[in-house]
Formats: sequence, C-alpha cells, structure tokens
Amino acid sequence: MLEAQPEPGGAVRSAGYLGPGFVADVCSAFYPLAAASPAIASLALEDHGLRWAHAPAVLAHPLPDGGCALLSRDVTETCSALERLGRGDGAAWERLWQLWGRLGPALVDALFTPFPPLRAGTRMLARAGPAGVPAFARFAALPVRRLMEEEFSGPGGLLLAGCTMHTDLAPESAGGALYAWILAMLGQQYGWPVPEGGAGRLAQAMVGRLRSLGGEVRCSTPAEEVLVRHGRATGVRAVSGETFRARRAVIADVAAPLLYGGLVGWEHLPARLRDDIRRFQWDYATVKVDWALSGRVPWSAPTAGRAGTVHLSAGIDEMTMYCAQLATGQVPAEPFVLMGQMTTADASRSPLGTESLWGYTHVPRSVRGDAGGRGLSGAWDGAELELMADRVEQQVERFAPGFRSLVSRRHVLGPHQLQEHNANAVGGAVSGGTAAAHQQLFLRPVPGLGRPRTPVAALYLASASAHPGGGVHGACGANAARAALRAQGPVRRWLRRAAAAPA
Ligand SMILES: Cc1cc2nc3c(=O)[nH]c(=O)nc-3n(C[C@H](O)[C@H](O)[C@H](O)COP(=O)(O)OP(=O)(O)OC[C@H]3O[C@@H](n4cnc5c(N)ncnc54)[C@H](O)[C@@H]3O)c2cc1C
Repeated sequence: MLEAQPEPGGAVRSAGYLGPGFVADVCSAFYPLAAASPAIASLALEDHGLRWAHAPAVLAHPLPDGGCALLSRDVTETCSALERLGRGDGAAWERLWQLWGRLGPALVDALFTPFPPLRAGTRMLARAGPAGVPAFARFAALPVRRLMEEEFSGPGGLLLAGCTMHTDLAPESAGGALYAWILAMLGQQYGWPVPEGGAGRLAQAMVGRLRSLGGEVRCSTPAEEVLVRHGRATGVRAVSGETFRARRAVIADVAAPLLYGGLVGWEHLPARLRDDIRRFQWDYATVKVDWALSGRVPWSAPTAGRAGTVHLSAGIDEMTMYCAQLATGQVPAEPFVLMGQMTTADASRSPLGTESLWGYTHVPRSVRGDAGGRGLSGAWDGAELELMADRVEQQVERFAPGFRSLVSRRHVLGPHQLQEHNANAVGGAVSGGTAAAHQQLFLRPVPGLGRPRTPVAALYLASASAHPGGGVHGACGANAARAALRAQGPVRRWLRRAAAAPA
C-alpha cells in the first residue's frame, strides 16, 4: 500500500496538537457506519487492538429555550426525551424505530454491497411487502423538513434534521430524510462509537491486520501514475520515480477526479468519461476546529453534556438559511456545527475533568460573499480561519454561555490544510463528492460506473467517490477488493486460498 502522507489513515487519524494529554481527531471522529458495516466486522479489528468506546448518550440537539432533543441507545429514554418536547413525539420515534426493525438490517446490507444489491434488495422487498414498497419509496424520497412536519409536533425531529446536515443536502432536499433516518437509527441500534485512544487507533488496527497478512505500507510515497499497458493496469509509479508492479490489480483509494485524468491519463480512458468527470460534483468545503477545554462544556441544557455528538443550530429554519447561504456562495452567518465531546465519549482523550472538543462546519467551495458581515473572502488564510473559528465559537456560546472562558487551546484547519493533510479532501470536501441523488448508486461517481470497476482492466476505484459514498464503513474498499479477487477466476482464487491456508 502506497500512502502519500508520513502516516497512514487518511481521514481517520489522531494528533497531539491540542497539547500534552489531549488527543484530537484530525478529521473523522464518530463511527456509526463502521459499527454497522459487515465490511469492517469481517476484519476482526478487535484482534488488532481496536476497542470501541461510547458516551453515556449518543447525540444531543440543544434548543435555544434550554430544552434538548436526546438520542440514547436506550430507545425508551430517547422516546421519553422526545415526548417531553412534543406530545406524541415519543410514539413518532417508536414508529421510525419499528420501521428500522423491519427494514434496517436488509437496507444496511443493500447499502454496503456492490450495486445493484440483488440479494439484500430482494430481502428488503420481501420484508416491506406489497403495500410497504410504495410507502417506503415515498419515505425514502422525503426531505427531512417534511418528515419532521409529518411525524413530530415539537422540535424533537431536529435530531433527524441535524443528521441530514452530515451530508451536503438541505432540509428541503429529496432523500435527506433517508440519510437522517439511517444515521439516527444506527445510533439507536449501535450508538455512534469512537475508538478508544483516538480515531487513529482504527487506522492502526487496519494496518496491523494488513501487516499480519504480509502486507506492507509505504508511507511518504505519493503515487503519481497508474501504469497502463494495452488497456490494463500493470502497476504504479510513485512521485519518486520508483515503480511498483501489480501482478493482480491496482486498487485506487483516491477521489474519482484525481484518478481519471490524473493518475490515469485521458489517453487510456473513453472520451465520454472526460465529460462525465467535468460534471462531477464535490461536496461542501469544511472548516474544522478542535479545542482543549479546562472543563466540560457548560450547556444551558445539561442533558447535552451526556452526549458524544452534539448538533448546534437554533432550528430547522436556521439550517435552511445555512444551506441556502452555502448554495449561494455566502459564508454562513450562523453556521451549523457538528461537535464531538471526545472525552465524554472516551475518557482517555484528555485529563480528568477536561474535554477534548472536536467540531466542524461547512463553507462554500467558491466564496462570493460573507453573510456574517466580516468580509471573509474564501482565501482561508490564518486570519480568515481564526475569524471563522470565532464564528463557530459564537454559535457554541449561544447554547453554552461561558464556553469561551474554558478554552485553553484552539486548533483550526481550513480547506487548504485538510487537502494538504489528505489529497482526497479536495477543497476541504469530506465525502468524496455530493450525496445528492444525481451522484448516487449507479450514478456514482459518474453515470454507469456504479461498480468499482473502471474502464481500465485490473484497476478498481476504492474511495468514497465510489458507491456507497462518504463515511467510514469500509464498503468502497471491500467492494473494490472483492471485484479484483473475483476477476481472477475460481481456479486462481482457489489456489490462492490453498496457499494461504494453515498447514
Ligand atoms: C473533517 C472530516 C470529518 C469527518 N467526520 C466523519 C465522521 O465523524 N464519521 C465518518 O464516518 N466519516 C467522517 N468523515 C468522512 C470520512 O472520513 C471519509 O468519507 C472517509 O475517510 C473516506 O475514505 P477514503 O478511503 O475514500 O479516503 P481517505 O480517508 O480520504 O483516505 C485516502 C488516503 O489515500 C491517500 N492518498 C490520496 N492520494 C494519494 C496518492 N496519489 N498516493 C498515495 N496516497 C494517496 C491519502 O493520503 C489518504 O491516506 C469526515 C471527513 C472529514 C474530512
């Protein structure tokens, strides 16, 4: 495995930049998708040191009036918390949970296997039944704002709306409710766990497994070109000039626009792909902030202090404004903030009584103005990043007055730094491309290439630009690896297994 950076992990790494005793997750932090993914489960990473940790509660959405929507792994507790915010809302959650009980497991299987998911899809259809299929199709197409209106009388549905904000979909986007429901119900079923000791421990466990099987990771070795001969990938040339021959296949964990026309020259690719890649849509840019706090966050709604993840936005209209500002190239005035109370989730992240706090928000990929009135231009130099971090802190202060007085250290990463840290995070994108319907399933990353195969034989796309997209679930890589193994044919596969079997 060739890794461009000095250490492996990509968007799954930890660092010590918050000072002694504090662990910060540089990019991703919470792993509901990994917890549910058959691809990750099949790796038995616990045998390589991975331990999951859970906060007392999964997710909180504090409200401006001091109330709080809470997701707990105990469904009765979630329902009670929501019922307190709106009559009938506990029952609404229970209905969504029952729907998950019927269709969730098959849906997860369908999501995490190559497209089209024939077996899991058939199971899902059978579970839904003839009347259930059109009803679920409608549910799957709902915008999250509409789901809230239909199911909830109080603000408890914000738990779901905040989950939609993990994608680049707006509260009014079709399909947004489905993402929200999946993330929330995974939280209900598995929690949103974190690796004990930091996100990097997940990557370390994967590297440990690879090494135990004889694999090698070459760090600080950026790949520059996939070598192609007679339409087939034969190896990789690193920036250093060193070449690596691939006997079986090249698996590319790079964003689609970096592979097509980048690592693989256009001369090896169909002309149509060039046009498709021109239309490839990235997801939003990102500004990430980490804080070392001398105490726990002083939430007005104390319940929020129990949750690993906290969503910050005063309501669904504020989320719509945030998304509208992103869509129109304005740096949002009141950013939606996705926060992680990392020490609350895993006590090893900072000294007793303190908090290692993680958060990010999105900014437009191309800035045309600043809705916050501070003249942010999108240069995202040091001064602009500090101003944006101040804006994020203002948002935290609305829900936790006095928060700022606890900050002993702050570390900010903008779109440029995220991309320097990981070439796949082009312009600060987190998901390898938009989650919108026009770039999903068989349309991901471009129409017709829903599978990890590429137009070059023995070259497979394994990054989040492939189906099923962003998030840490291992499915893109697993799909690519399986496709490569299948391409060897049964005889070679059998010989390989026989050679690997213990004597
Ligand atoms: C700020 C942030 C927060 C996030 N939060 C979460 C979260 O909490 N939970 C979650 O599930 N997901 C989260 N995500 C999304 C998730 O991390 C990504 O979708 C996922 O890591 C993508 O996996 P990947 O394998 O496609 O690539 P990456 O994780 O991006 O890894 C790609 C690797 O390839 C290397 N590479 C790239 N180009 C080359 C080259 N030419 N030569 C050699 N090596 C190369 C990179 O250095 C990197 O190590 C977050 C992402 C970001 C950026």
